[in-house]
Parts: sequence; C-alpha cells; structure tokens
Amino acid sequence: MMLFGNQLVPDEEVRISPLDRGYYFGDGVYEVFRIYDGRLFEVQGHMERFSRSMAEIRISLPYPLEELENLLNRLTETAGIPDGLTYVQITRGAAPRSHPFPAAAAAEPVVTGWCSPFLRPLKDLENGISAIVREDIRWHRCDIKSLNLLPNVLLKQEALDGGAGEVIFSRGGVITEASASNVMIVKNGIVKTHPADHHILRGVTRSLVLRLAEGLGIAVREEAFRAEELASADEVFITSTGSEVMPVVLVDSRPVGDGKPGPVTRLLQQAFEASIPAGSR
Ligand code: PMP
Repeated sequence: MMLFGNQLVPDEEVRISPLDRGYYFGDGVYEVFRIYDGRLFEVQGHMERFSRSMAEIRISLPYPLEELENLLNRLTETAGIPDGLTYVQITRGAAPRSHPFPAAAAAEPVVTGWCSPFLRPLKDLENGISAIVREDIRWHRCDIKSLNLLPNVLLKQEALDGGAGEVIFSRGGVITEASASNVMIVKNGIVKTHPADHHILRGVTRSLVLRLAEGLGIAVREEAFRAEELASADEVFITSTGSEVMPVVLVDSRPVGDGKPGPVTRLLQQAFEASIPAGSR
C-alpha cells in the first residue's frame, strides 16, 4: 500500500502526472522516518520539520497535519515491516510548466508516501565508515528538506566510486554536514557540530544526540568548525535517521584519531541504542 493524497491505496492505483511540478522543477519537500519494531520513531520531530519545510516553500497540506500523522502511522502498521523507513513527500501539484506558482484553484498539492524495509547498519556501526571531503555546492537553504538533491546524489556517488561511504561537505573551508547526515567531531572530550542555520538540515537524529550528550554530561558546542579541525579531530561521527550514530574512522584516506571508533562516539551510540524500542536492538 502507498499513501496517495489522504488515502492508503494499492501501489498500482497511484497516478502521478508528468506535469507534476515535483517532476520537472523538484518543487516539493519530503521527510524520512525510521521504523523500529514496527512503529515510527521520533514522530514529532519529523512532523514538525515536514511542516516547517512546507511552510518555507509555501505549500499547504490539503488536510490537517494530525491527519497526515495518522495516515503515516496507518501506512506503517499496514506495511508490517519491523525495521524500515517511511517516506512522505508533497509537491505543488500538476500544472502547465511555468515558473510562477499555479493559482490555488488550478493545482492541488500531491502527497505520496510508502514504507520500505531497512535494517540497522550494525557492521558499520561497529567498525565505522570512511568519508571524503568535497566543496558544498548546494544552495543556501539547506534547512529546507527539498526534493532538489542533485549535488548530494552526485557527490555521494563520487564517494562510493572511490570506495568511501559518505561525503562530508565543506563550504569555503567550513564543515557543514554530509550528503544525507549531520557531522559531529570530538576534540578533547568536547563535541562540536555546525549550528542549525540555513547551511544544514536540522537533523532529528542530531537533536536527539545533542539531548543524549547533555544527559551524559558531555560538553557540546553548536559552532562552525573548519576542515582542518575535522582532519585533526579525536573522533568524527555522522548522525541520521538511517545511520544513527555512525563512526567515521577515515577522512580523505587518513585515519581519525587511532583509526577506531572513539569513546565519546561509543557512549553516544549506547545511549542512542537505549532510546530505540527494545524489539529493534
Ligand atoms: N542532513 C541532510 C542533508 C540529510 O539529508 C539528512 C537526512 N534526512 C540529515 C542531515 C539527517 O537528518 P535526520 O537525522 O533527521 O535523518
């Protein structure tokens, strides 16, 4: 089943027009939720961010946000997937191709969503991954979870082609985030991560990890840091809905610290794991 408008329908009943503005302009926003133990995780954080993304690009959901939340819960229950992801997107709808917004009466926003199985990346969580650093060639509104992901797609592929797992973005020498995750470094026991401004997406996992760090008495600074600090950090990790708290042990082929996931990363991984439903641990 898929979400289409305000209904759950069999996949083959979803009909999208080639004139959908999401299709030719990327004129829409999306959200990705994690399913643990068959249920959506951190629902409120994701719903709030989706609502904000819609407001920032001036698309209004054609029904109340609470109804969308119910639909996504039902979609997830119906899917019956213990460990997975639930995706939802909204576009400005179908209209003849022209840059200005179509008149409200001429186009209705199109909502689609689905679930897919996704297992916790246990091996990578244990051993860590490698990353490359590349110039952040995205626009200056990375706080909006927009469908326009071409820079992320191209640079992620470059990372994979070179045998790395992720690409970390540097905007004029300042580390912002990664292609689909936020970046944190640890130096002398202090965690640093880019402030949640227009140059990063305010990750739901980032927020959770910052709360967990606070609970553990780990010092956190939401402060911009440069590529050189990344290179000389004791520990580096990324956070996202799919990657959780993922150690980065190689940056541009050079080991981070001693080349193994560090103690602060491990503490945060343990706290994160304790916060997910027991059925998925
Ligand atoms: N930054 C970007 C660019 C992303 O695509 C994601 C994944 N949604 C994140 C950060 C992490 O956000 P979250 O923890 O909410 O998944």
